[in-house]
Amino acid sequence: MDEKFDCIIVGAGIAGLAAAMILARNNMKFLLIEKGDFAGAKNVSGGVLWGTDLARLVPEYWKEKDGGWERFINHRRLTFMDEQSTFSLDFKSSHFDEPPYSGVVVLRSKFDRWLAEKVQEAIDESDYAMESFIATNIKVDEVLMEDNKAMGIRTGDEEFHTDSVIIAEGVNNLLSRQVGLQDDYVPADHMLTGIKEVIRFDQKVLEDRFQLDGLSGMSNEFVGYATDGVEGGGFLYTNRDTISLGLVAGIKDMREKEKSPHDILNHFKEHPVIRDTIKGGEVVEYSAHVVSSGDKRVMPRQLYKDGVLLCGEAANLLINAGKAIQGMDFALRSGIIGAETIIKAKEQGDFSSRTLQEYRQALDDSYVMKDINNFQDAVHMLHSPEMYRDIPNLVCDFGRTFFTIDNQPTQKSRKLFSASVKKHSSYWDLIKIGFKGAKSL
Ligand SMILES: Cc1cc2nc3c(=O)[nH]c(=O)nc-3n(C[C@H](O)[C@H](O)[C@H](O)COP(=O)(O)OP(=O)(O)OC[C@H]3O[C@@H](n4cnc5c(N)ncnc54)[C@H](O)[C@@H]3O)c2cc1C
Repeated sequence: MDEKFDCIIVGAGIAGLAAAMILARNNMKFLLIEKGDFAGAKNVSGGVLWGTDLARLVPEYWKEKDGGWERFINHRRLTFMDEQSTFSLDFKSSHFDEPPYSGVVVLRSKFDRWLAEKVQEAIDESDYAMESFIATNIKVDEVLMEDNKAMGIRTGDEEFHTDSVIIAEGVNNLLSRQVGLQDDYVPADHMLTGIKEVIRFDQKVLEDRFQLDGLSGMSNEFVGYATDGVEGGGFLYTNRDTISLGLVAGIKDMREKEKSPHDILNHFKEHPVIRDTIKGGEVVEYSAHVVSSGDKRVMPRQLYKDGVLLCGEAANLLINAGKAIQGMDFALRSGIIGAETIIKAKEQGDFSSRTLQEYRQALDDSYVMKDINNFQDAVHMLHSPEMYRDIPNLVCDFGRTFFTIDNQPTQKSRKLFSASVKKHSSYWDLIKIGFKGAKSL
C-alpha cells in the first residue's frame, strides 16, 4: 500500500481505541494496528474504567443491551486484612445509580473488542470508510524515523507511511525507546505484576452474595495480608456472572522475598474471608500482566517529538493513590487528547513537535497530569511497608479486640487501640503517617 495515512496508531488498547474513535469522527485517514488476534486479546485489567469519559466515545453506552461493560459501580469497599480478619471501610450510594456512571467494571477481551466495533462503525460513517483500517494480528516492529521525525512504521518486510504515529503500545515500552522518547526499560522497583482470576458463579448466587441489584456492582480493594508481605494490594470486582479477583505485587520486592505471583494469589484466596467469598465459584480465566506503579519519576522525559506521540501506559500515565488504580481512564483521556492534537496538526499542515507540544500542554491542563502531580506522595506512601503491613495488622488487631465480647470486663476502646498500636507500630509512627497522609491526600 503506497498511500500515506494522516496517522498510524500502534496498539488497540484503551488509549489506541480512544484515539482512533476521535480520528474517525473527524474524518482522518488512519491505520490502527494491533498485534493480538483482536482488540483486547492481549489485555488484562482488574478492572474498573473510572469516570465518565467513556460516554464521550460511545454516547449513552449504557443503553446498549449487550454493551462491552459488565456492571456500574455504586458500592466501594477498602479492606484491611491480617492473617485471620478483615476490617473494611464500606460506602454504597444510590447517588451512583444514574448514568453517566462514575465507574464501570470491564473485562478487557470483551470490552476492547466491543469498543473496536464502535470505532469500525465510526470509520464506516467517515469520509475514509474505505481508506482507514483496524488491522489485527500484526506486530509493529519499528517506527520509521527520518531526520529524527517519524514517517511510518515497519512490520516484517512491509512499510506503511504516515504524517504521524501515536504509540499506544502499553507498558512494554519497546517502540517508545526505539524512537528515543524513553531511555530504558522502566526499572523493576517501579513495576508491579498484576495477576487475576475470573471466577464464575450462578448469576443469582453472585447477585445475592454481593447484594447487587440489576447491573449495579461492587469494587473492593485490599491491603495487608492479601499480598503476603510483598508491596502491593488485592482487588475484587463484580462482573455480570463472574468476579475478577486478583492482586498487584511489586516485582523487585517479590524477587527479594522469593515469592511468585501465583503463590501470592493462592495465599490471598486461602484467607478465610476470601475463601468464604469465592465458595462455589469456578475459575474460568487466569491472566497476568505488568503494570506500572504510577511513580512520575519514571515517566518519559517528553511525550512527543516530531511526528510522534505517546499515549496511555506507554507514557506511564497511571496512578494508584489508594482510592483506585486509574490507568484505563488516563489511557482513554490521553488517547482523546492525542487524537485532537493530531487533528490540529493536520489543519495546520505541521506535524512537528512545534504543534505536537500542544499534546503535553493539554495533558498537563487535564485531570490526568493534575492528579499524577498532586498525588505522588500518596503513591510513595502506599508502597511503604507501614501501609501494606503494619497499618492493616494494627487495624485488624483493634477490630478483633473491639468486637470481642467474652464475659470479661470490657476495656475502653482507647486502651484497646493503644494495645494494638504498641503491638504493630508506635504512636510516633502513626503521627508521621497521619501527617504524610494529610499532606498527600
Ligand atoms: C491486574 C491489573 C489490574 C488493573 N486494574 C485497573 C483498574 O481497575 N482500573 C484501571 O483504570 N486500570 C487498571 N489497570 C491498568 C490498566 O489496565 C492500564 O493502565 C491500561 O490498560 C493502559 O491502557 P493502554 O491502552 O495504554 O495499554 P494496553 O491496554 O496495554 O494496550 C496496549 C495495546 O497495544 C498492543 N501492542 C503493544 N505493542 C504492539 C506492537 N508493537 N504492535 C502492535 N500492537 C501492539 C497490545 O497488544 C495492546 O492491545 C490494571 C492493570 C493490571 C495489570
